[in-house]
Amino acid sequence: MLNHNLVTYHQSEHRLPSGEISDATKKIIYKLLENGFEAYLVGGAVRDLLLGLHPKDFDIATNATPEDIKHIFKGKCRIIGRRFRLAHVYMGGSIYEVATFRGSDEGDRVMKKGQIIRDNVFGTIDQDAIRRDFSCNALYYDLHEETILDFAAGVHDLKKGELKLIGNPNKRFIEDPVRMLRAVRFHAKLGLNLTDEMKQTIINNRNHLSNVPTARLFDEAVKMFHCGNMEIAYNTLSELKLFEILFPKAAKIAGKEAVWHDFLIQAFRNTDHRLQNGLSVTPVFLTACVMWLEFLPIYHQLLNSGKNSHDALHEATTLVMISQRENLMIPKAIQNGVRQMWILQLRFKKMFGKGVYSSLHHPRFRAAYDFLLLRNEVNAELAQKVEFWTNIQTMSPEGIKSLIFGKKVKRQKVSYDL
Ligand code: ATP
Ligand code: MG
Repeated sequence: MLNHNLVTYHQSEHRLPSGEISDATKKIIYKLLENGFEAYLVGGAVRDLLLGLHPKDFDIATNATPEDIKHIFKGKCRIIGRRFRLAHVYMGGSIYEVATFRGSDEGDRVMKKGQIIRDNVFGTIDQDAIRRDFSCNALYYDLHEETILDFAAGVHDLKKGELKLIGNPNKRFIEDPVRMLRAVRFHAKLGLNLTDEMKQTIINNRNHLSNVPTARLFDEAVKMFHCGNMEIAYNTLSELKLFEILFPKAAKIAGKEAVWHDFLIQAFRNTDHRLQNGLSVTPVFLTACVMWLEFLPIYHQLLNSGKNSHDALHEATTLVMISQRENLMIPKAIQNGVRQMWILQLRFKKMFGKGVYSSLHHPRFRAAYDFLLLRNEVNAELAQKVEFWTNIQTMSPEGIKSLIFGKKVKRQKVSYDL
């Protein structure tokens, strides 16, 4: 055992608000304990509770193997993952991740160019702790004793407001380059400071992100989009030259033209505000905002080459999605959502006739309307459309009818510039 670094904090010292822990989490942990295993609340939940925040999820760590967990929870458990096998336990309408302690036997881990490809070597709690990414993520809460087990000075770093990697930063970032994105996210979300040394290590290692499966990068990008402080995350990603790795074309355009930089900042601010006000968010929205920078010049180019607006829009969308695929894989469902939001931007140009109804009742209307508002902030020419699509939402059916079919309606030819 490597317990010489272990510090145990009692309730009177750590004051973790255990009442915030969900009943289902408690149930799972006690069931594992009753079956003779060790089980702790671990990771982000302990960290967030200590910071006075509401945890996004409750992760559990145990010395029970995935098979043991399956045996205990039977039909309520599913074993998932290849790179990192763990158990999902369904309880109280939610899914809980129950992970078996990882060992430190490097010989059995599957590595490629210093990067961990598969990691299913089980071990003890202290080995598990030092395999985690940041010191504040290596805290274990013992529900029964009400103690926090801290193997890597995480409580101390949290108090100082610092995000510290466990072990050698260079090695840990190469082992799993996604940790660089997690560092930025925790900095933005929790206000934890990144030291200059950590920033430099990230800049030096940023190209390793190209070794990460592109679908995993998209998942991380979405977690970043929805971290609640995306404006800060974006500024930090730009400073550390990471934004250009995730979205190279958009980064180039935003770097050259202030108006597009401002557009992105405004988009991120809007999402931050929505989250702060408890409103729903969809990954489609910010994906559409970021990709718009690249889409727009291609769309106009195709239009100028004689394509009609419909074909130009579909072709430009497809081209943008194909080129983005090399860096970060946007799932098909999200791609479709983005395409629909963009089609609605074209449809919003037509402010008379039957088409108005189909735009208004389109399932993506809300997101597309918010997107129109955002575009209006960088393009004053959209003001008339914003007024029309804003007013129509509060009008009576009769009012709408006379507005879009009335004699006074100007059925001028619609231009398809976006
Ligand atoms: P949040 O849930 O708020 O995003 P989190 O820290 O709980 O933050 P999860 O992705 O839920 O993040 O992971 C749970 C825990 O697993 C982390 O706290 C950390 O201890 C460990 N972990 C997750 N990803 C990694 C990684 N890439 N490398 C090392 N440890 C990791
Ligand atoms: Mg978590």
